[in-house]
Order: sequence, then C-alpha cells, then structure tokens
Amino acid sequence: MSTEKGPNFLEEIIAEDIANGKNNGRVLTRFPPEPNGYLHIGHSKSIAVNFGLADQFNGKTNLRFDDTNPEKEETEYVESIKKDIRWLGYNWANEFYASDYFDKIYEFAVTLIKNGLAYVDDSSAEQIAAMKGTPTEAGKESPFRKRSMEENLDLFARMRNAEFKEGEKVLRAKIDMTSPNMHLRDPLMYRIKHVHHHRTGDKWCIYPMYDFAHGQSDAIEEITHSICTLEFEVHKPLYDWFIKQLNLFPSHQYEFARLNLNYTVMSKRKLLQLVNEKHVTGWDDPRMPTISALRRRGYTPESIRNFADKVGVARRENMIDVGLLEFCIREDLNKKANRVMAVLDPIKLIITNYPAGQTELLAAENNPEAENHGGSRELPFSNELWIERDDFMENAPKKFFRLGVGLSVRLKSAYIVTCDDFKKDAEGNITEIHCRYIPESKSGSDTSGMTVKGTIHWVNVAQAITAEVRLYDRLFKVEDPSSEEGDFKKYINPDSLHIIKNAMVEPSLKEAKEGQFFQFMRKGYFCIDKDTTENNLVFNRTVTLKDAWSKEQKKD
Ligand code: ATP
Ligand code: MG
Repeated sequence: MSTEKGPNFLEEIIAEDIANGKNNGRVLTRFPPEPNGYLHIGHSKSIAVNFGLADQFNGKTNLRFDDTNPEKEETEYVESIKKDIRWLGYNWANEFYASDYFDKIYEFAVTLIKNGLAYVDDSSAEQIAAMKGTPTEAGKESPFRKRSMEENLDLFARMRNAEFKEGEKVLRAKIDMTSPNMHLRDPLMYRIKHVHHHRTGDKWCIYPMYDFAHGQSDAIEEITHSICTLEFEVHKPLYDWFIKQLNLFPSHQYEFARLNLNYTVMSKRKLLQLVNEKHVTGWDDPRMPTISALRRRGYTPESIRNFADKVGVARRENMIDVGLLEFCIREDLNKKANRVMAVLDPIKLIITNYPAGQTELLAAENNPEAENHGGSRELPFSNELWIERDDFMENAPKKFFRLGVGLSVRLKSAYIVTCDDFKKDAEGNITEIHCRYIPESKSGSDTSGMTVKGTIHWVNVAQAITAEVRLYDRLFKVEDPSSEEGDFKKYINPDSLHIIKNAMVEPSLKEAKEGQFFQFMRKGYFCIDKDTTENNLVFNRTVTLKDAWSKEQKKD
C-alpha cells in the first residue's frame, strides 16, 4: 500500500515492531464487521488496510464477525460480507465469530469478579446514566458497587440462568467513577437480552458489550495489530485495562481516520432505513454506497482497491470527493471495456443516396486502449440508422459540429454524411433526418479529401436491439446529508434514477451477460444489470465519460 508518498504511519509502526522482534516478527490483523448490514465503501477501506498490511509484512488476517448484538444480526449479512471480501480479492486466514468465545468471555468475567474488579448492578439504565457524571464532573458510585465477591458470583450465574428480566441487572467493571475518560467509569460488561442469536441460538441470555468482547477476542486470537477507526481511540484505555487485568495476550489497538464520501451516507443504520423505507430497491440498488451495489453498478474490485489506496491512511478525518471513486473506475474501464454504439434517445436518419435494401458490414475496432485494439467486430450499415436526437439541431449554429441542414459529420467507423433536410410531425416534433453519404469517405479507406470536425455514433435500424438503460445520479442533493439539519432522508435527490425504456443498441450486445461492461461511445461506461432477461436487456450506467456533475452544477 505504500505509494510515492512514503510509508504511512501504520506501516511505520509495523516495520518498527518487526525490527524490534516484537511477537517474533509475526503480524496478524483482523477485519471485525458486525453482521448487521451489508459492507459499504468505508469498510472496503478498512479491509484494504487490514489485509493490505498483512500482505505487505508477510502476515495474515482473520475475519471475525463481531456478533454481540443478537437482535440486529443475521446470517444473510454474514454471507454477503464474506462474498464481498472475496470479490474485493482478499482471503482471510480464519473465519471466527465473537460468539465462539462466549464461554471464554464469561470465564473472564468470573475472573474479574473473583479479583474484586467487577460487580452486578441492579440500577436501571436511567440511574446508571444519571450516576455517570459528565466529562467535566465526576460520576457517583453505584450503591451496589460494594457487593461481596460471593454475592456477585451468585448473581452473575443467575443472570446467565435466565432468572432476571432484561434491564434488571448488569455486570460492570469496577474501575474509577472519577476518571476523566467516561469509558473508565465502571463500564458495562454484560447485559441481559432474552434474544435468539443467529449462531448460539438460545444458549445465552446475557451478552458481552463491545468493550468486553472486542479486545478479548483480539487477545484470544493473538492479534498483533488491532486496527480500527478513530472513534475507538477513547476506548483504548479500557481495551488495555481488561487485557492487563486478565493477563491476556497483549494485543494493541491502532486507529486511523474513517473514510467519508460526499453525497452519501455510510452508516449501516442509515442504509438500512433507506432499504426498509423503500427509498432504494435494496442493499444492492446501484445508487447505494455498498460493495454489492457498486458491483452491480459495474465497479471492478481493482477500481475499489485503487480508490482505497489513493485515499491513503491518515489520522485526521476528511471528506473524500466521490469524483475520486469515479476517476478510479473510469481509469480501469478505459483499458478493459469494449467501445460499442448505443443510441439512448433515438431519431431516424435516412441516407437518401444509399441503395434501399442493401446492407454492408463495416469493421469496427473494439478498444483503442487495449492490446491489439481489443480485436474488431462487424457492424451492419444501411440507409436507415438511429442517431441521438441531440446530435441534430434545426437551426444549428456554425460551431455545432454535429448535424443540421448543410452540416456534415462522420458516422463512427462508417462514412461522412451531409444533412439536406428533415421531417416534422403535426406537433412539430422532428421525426426524420435526411442525409447524403459520401461513398469515397469510408473509414479506413477515405479518399474523399473532406475533413469534418464531428464524429457521431449510430445503430443500424434493421438489426438494432431495444434495451432498457438506467442512468444514475447522486442519491443525495447535499454533500454531507448526515450533518444537515433534521432527518437525512429530507436530502434525498428525487432525480437519482432515470430509466430509458427504448434505447437502441448495436447487435453485438445481444449476447451480453451480467458481469460484462462496455463503453457506450460518448455516453459513458455501462454494465449488464441482473434484471436482464432473455427479452429485456438492462444496462446500468456505471459512470459518465467525464465529470458531468460538476458541469451541471456550474450551469445552474
Ligand atoms: P457503520 O457505522 O457503517 O455501521 P461500523 O463501524 O458499525 O460501521 P462494523 O461492522 O463495526 O461497522 O465495522 C467493521 C470495521 O470496519 C471496523 O473496524 C470499523 O472501524 C471499520 N469501518 C466502518 N466504517 C468505516 C469507514 N467509513 N471507514 C473506514 N473503516 C470503517
Ligand atoms: Mg459497529
């Protein structure tokens, strides 16, 4: 992951640890998702950091599901997370679950009770919050803090045996109610939840809190570098305290700034709302910032990894422009995607001097950016073509390098045509454009001596395939919907999806399959959507060819 910028601070720390012989030079990281939603582009940053560092230093990475909140977690999410990490191109050394450690974590809790470092508190959640104090004002000790070790052991065992209702009792660490770090003011270790767990079923009715599960899981797995995002920095003293009191493997936590992307939201809780309230069609709606949505939209794993790399690893929070993500996919597809012709808003062009009923096959290069130009294909050409409606103007100004009466353009891979005339219907809509072609101007063997400034794309009417094309825009109208006033859903862009039902695409696309991507010349990069059926080709626009968004903004 090091770039010309030099090693990032995590690379420096690990290199130094190895140089000092720490853990005998062993490097083991982990990626610890909670299976309560689909992975998003922010997670891909964390995945790239954890797996990337391990790769770089001959280490390994565990995938650990942090499944300690049973009511929000589901197997569907576990499966999607595994699929997404593999798709991004990473392999984990072990697949673990925090829930695998529930027995051990329970024993850790018993040890702390025996050492006088944990107690059962009967206070309600409200009472505990009220006694917590504020960052500038010390908290108050719970009246239950002085319980005897024997009583604590008995009550904790009975909590486990389902003798109490939710909220009736919790287990807390006995640390320091006056600590300036709120997380050290007797933090909760266990709470009662009579909830079915996606893996442990009904075995448990008490579940450890994040802070009493995460570091313990790291230590059990002997993770050497536990890398997380900055919001966990304030948890670190507690992470270290538990490990020290329990005398466990000394895993260490390191924090970096989370990835924020503009014009989107990235918390699973918010993404779940968008799905449940049907603002989008699902977790993989191509407008979502999830990995599954980006995949469906036509993003490649290479583009996402390259994006994560370009963003870099920092200690300061910042907002990344979604334009950078778009740059990365354009850069990748420019090399990989065949150029094809598709007319999104068709109007008929008739070549009056081309023999009716005649069809010729023209050779067209697939990709000038690929090796050997990606080979070539044949395009049928005749006297009736589809072209884009906006490639013709009734009263074209001189600098309009497309079609208007008296103007000439080259039809890509075919001939130069000159417009003579056009037809309108009763409502005044232009229905047909009439041109003459220059027979000597055939691409590849042009002897016409004519030069034209514009080249436009086209599709032969007789073999054209009707396709549905979905164009996407930002899902939100504002850069940072989460920081705006009120509900973030107020800022949803009502025009984020534009569906074209009757686009005309060239016949070579007939056999296109899900997972393939193309450049529609002059229109952007597109991929086949999973909604495609035998009778309905559906394309998603992955990204435009240029940054159309900023241009649009300037116009307003
Ligand atoms: P969310 O806020 O989206 O619900 P989370 O942090 O609760 O995310 P987890 O499943 O707990 O999600 O995260 C797994 C790992 O991914 C954690 O180490 C977390 O720090 C990291 N992560 C989550 N969001 C981002 C982000 N935007 N940028 C970088 N890393 C992230
Ligand atoms: Mg979380």
